[in-house]
Order: sequence, then C-alpha cells, then structure tokens
Amino acid sequence: MVTEKYKGKVVLITGASRGIGKAIANRFIKQGAFVIGTATTEVAARKITTDLTADNASGTGLVLDIADKSSIEIFDNNLKAFKAPDILVNNAGITRDNLLMRMQDADWEEVINTNLTGMYRVTKLCLRAMIKTRYGRIINISSVTGLSGNSGQCNYAAAKAGMIGFTRSLAREVGSRGITVNAVAPGFIETDMTHELTSAVRDAVLTQIALGRLGRPEEIATVVDFLAADEASYITGQTISVNGGMYMG
Ligand code: NAP
Repeated sequence: MVTEKYKGKVVLITGASRGIGKAIANRFIKQGAFVIGTATTEVAARKITTDLTADNASGTGLVLDIADKSSIEIFDNNLKAFKAPDILVNNAGITRDNLLMRMQDADWEEVINTNLTGMYRVTKLCLRAMIKTRYGRIINISSVTGLSGNSGQCNYAAAKAGMIGFTRSLAREVGSRGITVNAVAPGFIETDMTHELTSAVRDAVLTQIALGRLGRPEEIATVVDFLAADEASYITGQTISVNGGMYMG
C-alpha cells in the first residue's frame, strides 16, 4: 500500500538500480513520492521505471553517469520533463581498492571523480530550484570509511570524507533558504559492493561490528527517510552513522 507522507514531493536518487539506492527508492515510492532513480545504462534505467511504477506508484528511471560531464548535461535536459526534485539523495558510488603504494592514478581519479565530483555536479544541478522554492533536502551517502579510514581505501576514504566537508559547508550556505543538507555514513552493508570482499576480509570486518553482522540496505533507507521527513527540519550539516557499532567516533 502506498501512503501519502511524501505526496507531491519529487525525490531524485542517484544509483537506484541496486543495493542501497534501490532500497531508498522503494522506501520513498511506498510513501507517495514521485521517485526519479538513475542507472548508468538504458536497460537498468528501464528496469527502474518498471519497478517504480508497479502497485500504482509513480516514478521513472533515467540514465546518468555522474562521472561524465556530458551525461550530466543530457540528464539535466531529461530532468526538465518532471517537477524539480525537492529531495536529492546522492547515493551513487564506486570503490577501486588498493594499498596506496600500489594504487594507480586511474583508481584515484575514478573514485574522486565519481564519488566526490559527481555529487558536486548533481547537487549543483538541483540546487537552483530548491533555493527558488525555499525548500530542499539533500542527503549524501558517505561511508564509515570517511570517518575511521580503512587500509586499502585511501581514494574512497578521501572522497567520502570530502562528502562530509561538502555537506557541512553547503548546509551553512543554504540553511537560510529552508534547505537541509546531511550525510549518512553506512558501515558494511550487504550489497554488490561488499559481495566483492574476500571471505577473509569479511570475517575480519565482522569481528569489528558490535552487532556482529553486516547491515541491510533497508536499514540505510530508514535513516534517509528520517532525514527527509518534516520531523527532521532542524537537523542540518550532520553525519548520521549507521554501522552496527563498527565505529563510534
Ligand atoms: P552498489 O550495489 O555497488 O550500487 C552502486 C550504484 O551506484 C548502482 O546503482 C550503480 O549504477 C551506481 N553507479 C556506479 N557508478 C556510477 C556512475 N558513474 N554514475 C552514476 N551511477 C553510478 O553500491 P551500494 O553498496 O548500494 O552503495 C551505494 C552507496 O553507499 C555508495 O555511495 C557507497 O559508497 C555507499 N556505501 C556503501 C557501503 C556498503 O557497505 N555497501 C558502505 C558505506 C557506504 P549501475 O547499476 O548502473 O552500475
């Protein structure tokens, strides 16, 4: 059943084809929002449209590669067919893990360009309309790695910590316009991203998690929903950790 909590609101979620982004899209669609979910391919974008429009809900999938300026321009044009997003979830992200001594320039550049610059580009694209309507919710999906650091993830940690600095700065810039900007820092969550880990790394990670298990994408979506809701109107510039007690800084 679809409720009316977000009726009339447009929610843009980058990287909604899988994992955490898909769970966030499902959460908003069930609460009456019009959801625009992005994927990097036409096939995946069409699948998002099919999923979102089941059960009389309304939404669409659009193609977007946040690492590619020309893709962002095309996306911006396609976005004009819809009401401007009231809520933006910058979720799309990648990893290219390696110890710094072995890291290739391309691994560094791809992760920074996607995770950090991509977020900057998409946010800029949505901000003007939010300022005009004097309402907006921007939620950036950072990572526990951006807070605690993680061996083998200098590129990813730099991008994810950068997202937190961006979140705090933008919160100060646009707070007076009724726009809140927050980050969510997930711990290890069961998605394609963590399925890539070897069982040895996975076991080592588990020993560090107070709750003794990986998180579920839905457990991140719950917190995104909380930050997007009217009840969270006095929360901005914050980073909410959702990590099962893996890091308590
Ligand atoms: P995932 O399952 O690997 O899915 C990644 C999503 O990002 C996909 O929808 C993918 O689209 C999209 N994406 C990748 N590169 C993109 C690009 N250049 N432009 C646009 N979209 C792109 O990842 P996830 O685990 O759900 O992670 C989602 C977010 O949470 C990421 O920012 C990640 O860093 C963060 N996070 C995850 C964990 C975790 O343990 N899983 C922990 C902390 C933070 P396609 O399907 O089209 O490739």
